[in-house]
Parts: sequence; structure tokens; C-alpha cells
Amino acid sequence: MPRKRPNKVDMPVQPPHERKKNFDEVALGYTEKQAMEEALRCLNCKNARCVEGCPVGVPIPEFITKIAEGKPEEAYKTIFKQNTLPAICGRVCPQESQCEAKCIRANKGEPVAIGRLERFAADFAGDKELTGAVAKKRVGRVAVVGSGPAGLTCAGELARMGYSVTIFEALHAPGGVLLYGIPEFRLPRSLVEKEIRKIKDMGVEIVTNVIVGRSITIPELFEDGYQAVFVASGAGLPKFMEIPGENLNGVYSANEFLTRVNLMKAYDFPNNPTPIYVGKNAVVVGGGNVAMDAARTAKRLGAKNTCIIYRRGMEEMPARREEIDHAQQEGIEFKTLTHPIEIMGEDGWVKAVKCVEMELGKPDASGRRRPIEKPGSEFTVKADTVIIAIGQSPNPLIRQTTQGLKAHKWGGLVVDEDTMGTSMEGVYAGGDVVTGAATVIMAMGAGKKAAKAIDEYLQSKGQRLN
Ligand SMILES: Cc1cc2nc3c(=O)[nH]c(=O)nc-3n(C[C@H](O)[C@H](O)[C@H](O)COP(=O)(O)OP(=O)(O)OC[C@H]3O[C@@H](n4cnc5c(N)ncnc54)[C@H](O)[C@@H]3O)c2cc1C
Ligand code: SF4
Repeated sequence: MPRKRPNKVDMPVQPPHERKKNFDEVALGYTEKQAMEEALRCLNCKNARCVEGCPVGVPIPEFITKIAEGKPEEAYKTIFKQNTLPAICGRVCPQESQCEAKCIRANKGEPVAIGRLERFAADFAGDKELTGAVAKKRVGRVAVVGSGPAGLTCAGELARMGYSVTIFEALHAPGGVLLYGIPEFRLPRSLVEKEIRKIKDMGVEIVTNVIVGRSITIPELFEDGYQAVFVASGAGLPKFMEIPGENLNGVYSANEFLTRVNLMKAYDFPNNPTPIYVGKNAVVVGGGNVAMDAARTAKRLGAKNTCIIYRRGMEEMPARREEIDHAQQEGIEFKTLTHPIEIMGEDGWVKAVKCVEMELGKPDASGRRRPIEKPGSEFTVKADTVIIAIGQSPNPLIRQTTQGLKAHKWGGLVVDEDTMGTSMEGVYAGGDVVTGAATVIMAMGAGKKAAKAIDEYLQSKGQRLN
């Protein structure tokens, strides 16, 4: 038997000098030949540790075997049974810290490129009607609040079981962060729409422009005949640093910046009505995926110098390694161990960011080494656009308008981790509204867990209408 290659088959990408000027997808995906070659690296382990690392339990060796055998549609069907958003997960999941982190092949060389293979199978299936059998009988009514990955997954699972599910979405289009946060060059909008269409094909109804807590409350949803509610409203409230100058013109939260560009097409002003200003020098504060996305977007919108300011070191950055590498290749500068203390302005507009140097002390509660200011190390960085990407927390509207719904001090809803049940009977919650800003696959895992618990709850109450 020929020796298996130690490293992943490379995935073609757009060259950095071209891609930094356009919003087209950076990573181009495997061809069928490349996918088969990569799939052959899998050992098809009996005790497949990769599956333990997947929060939605995709049968990884089975689908990879099907790709190796030249049956990508079969591979897609295998994945779709456990994961209703494979084209999305294949692109944005942090596989390096989940399934691929557990892959046995990583003991010698690189793990199998599970994410790239998942993406290949999903893209190959494309528009084909491959959603699989869905129960025809509708056995009960469930409302879902929010159409991000948690809401979509819970709704899809419940539809599969035969429930009649309605998703209520505050914005005019479904998808949550997948649509308005993650930029087109990492996750094309058409692809998100395609995966949502497949969930609709399973019988899920999506009603947009409805803000739960304003247009209708959770108790009113029960009065309208819904027998359970799943709250998946995400963490859309941006955090600020609370330093002087944050209200100057030219300062954005990453949330506002990316929503304007991705959802409201600010890059196409005046053909689209939303403007955005990106000057010559753009500074992004933060070290997560959101910061990388904001910096790379600013670069594409014409910023000559774009720099990321992060208070810890490169090693501690929470963003995916691949995104950091892509940002560096596109010419984004990284100022690590640096912390902004003031945003300076002139005539109401940003002109510079005053920073201090940091050093790392002992690990803090997060397990990462705590950054400490170096006295007397102030310096300034020129800036005419500043984007703050230091985290988001859940919007308080739902907990403020729903009596009896318990929340933590920081805003996340309190749930039983086994069932995702909240302090209110029949109300479940999951995704970023429970954990704070996390990942797509964690949100999907919570959606699946909640769907199972909602089914058990309705059956135990005799509310499942057969
Ligand atoms: C810029 C950016 C890049 C990211 N990159 C990655 C990545 O590469 N990989 C990764 O795994 N994760 C990434 N994440 C994180 C990931 O997107 C989130 O963890 C995930 O989307 C959370 O899913 P969710 O369903 O809980 O919430 P969301 O995706 O936030 O969806 C919540 C939905 O609820 C709606 N809503 C809110 N309030 C109401 C209401 N009152 N009534 C009705 N609807 C409401 C919102 O409009 C939204 O559509 C990124 C996040 C951002 C912001
Ligand atoms: S652990 Fe790695 S080699 Fe083993 S089945 Fe999973 S992907 Fe294949």
C-alpha cells in the first residue's frame, strides 16, 4: 500500500495582491480530484476521535469514505443528517480546535482536512434537492426567536421530527451573523441563502421584520398557540472600551461597520443608500475573528494602512490561525502587546489613537496571561477610521420584556446545560444569547440539544398532536 502523504492537500486561494482589492471568496475549495486525494489520507478509524470533537456529531469517517469512493452526493447526504449547514461549517468552523484537533493523523504530520472536505461535499451538492426525508405530519407548533445558526439548526431538527416551526427574525433577511457579520470574502451570501432555502424546504417558516419583545412578546407567542419557544437571539450588543474619544466621527463598533458593509452594501454607495467612511489609516482594536474581518474589510474599502491593535501577543489571539495568516498576507499590520487609552480627534473627527505598551503577567481567569501596562510607554498611531472589535453581549430586550426569564449579570440567559431549558416552562435558549460571543458550531450544537429537549417536553406534556 502506498504511504499516505503527511500533510493536507493544499486548497487553492486567490493571490493576496488580487484579493485585497475585491470581496470575492478568498479560499477557492478543492476540485474533485484534490478532495479524493485528501479523503484517502483518512484512516477510517474504528474509534473515530474526530467525531468526539464535533459538537453536532457529524459521522466524519463515513462521509470522508464516500468522497474517497467518488460519491460526493452520498457524502453530502451523510453530513446533512447531522448538520443542516455544511457549506457554512466547512468554511468558518474552527476545525483546528475541534474535529481536526482530535484527528489521529495529527500525531505525525497534519490532521485530515475535515473542514475542506465538508465544504467540498456541500458545494458539490449545490442546489440539488438533497434535503432528505422530512416528516409530512405536523405534530405541534414551536416558535424560534432569531435566524442565526442556533435558530436555524433547532428549527431544522424540529421540522425533521414533524413539528410546525416558525422563526421570527428582527431583521429583513435571515441568517444572523452569517449574513451581516462574516464578510462575503469568507462566506458568500448566496451560499448562506442556499442553505437557508434547504431549511425552508424542510417546512420551516421564516417571518422577518418581527422583533420579539417589541412586535410580539414571548407570553403572546404562547397565547397565539405556540407550545414551546426557543430563544436564539445572539449577542448583538457591541462592547466599548470606555476611553475618551469613542464618540468621535470615524469611530465604529465592528458590528455597525460590518453590518453596513455586508448587509447594507455600503461598499456600493451611492448605488446602495448606506454610506461608510474609511480613511487612509484604519485602526482595528481586538484580536478575534471579528477584528480580522473588520481589518480585511477596511483594507478592501481602500485603507492604505490598516493595523490591528491587540493587548496580548500573537500566541494569545483568539482568531483562527488561518484568518490571521490571510490578514498578514494581505498587508495588515499587527501591533500586539498594545492597548489604546484615548482616541484623539480634531474638529470632531478621529486623528490618532494614543496607546501604551503592555507586557504579559500571570494567567488570569480566562487561562491567558494577563496584560499589564508598561509605565511611561505611551505612543500614538495615526488613524482616521477606528473600529472597535472587543466583543459583544446579548441585547437586553427579550429578558427585559419577559417576566420570569432569568439572566446572568453580564446579560446571558440562564439555562440548564443538559436541556437548554430556561427558568420559564416551555422556553428554551441557546447560542450566543446563552454563552456570549462564541462559534457557529457551538450555536448549532445548542440548537440541536434544545430541539431534542423540546420534543421530549412536548411529548411528556401530551402536547405533541399526533
Ligand atoms: C464578524 C464575525 C465573524 C465571526 N467569525 C466566526 C468564524 O469564523 N467562525 C465561527 O465559528 N464563528 C464566528 N463568529 C461567531 C458566530 O458567528 C456566532 O457565534 C454565531 O453566529 C452565533 O449564532 P446565534 O444563532 O446564537 O446568533 P446570531 O448569529 O447572532 O443570530 C441571532 C439572530 O437573532 C436576531 N434577533 C436578535 N434579537 C431578536 C429579537 N428580539 N427578535 C427577533 N430576532 C432577533 C438577530 O437579528 C440575528 O439574526 C463570528 C462573529 C462575527 C460577529
Ligand atoms: S480521526 Fe482522522 S483519520 Fe481517524 S477517522 Fe477521523 S478524520 Fe479519519
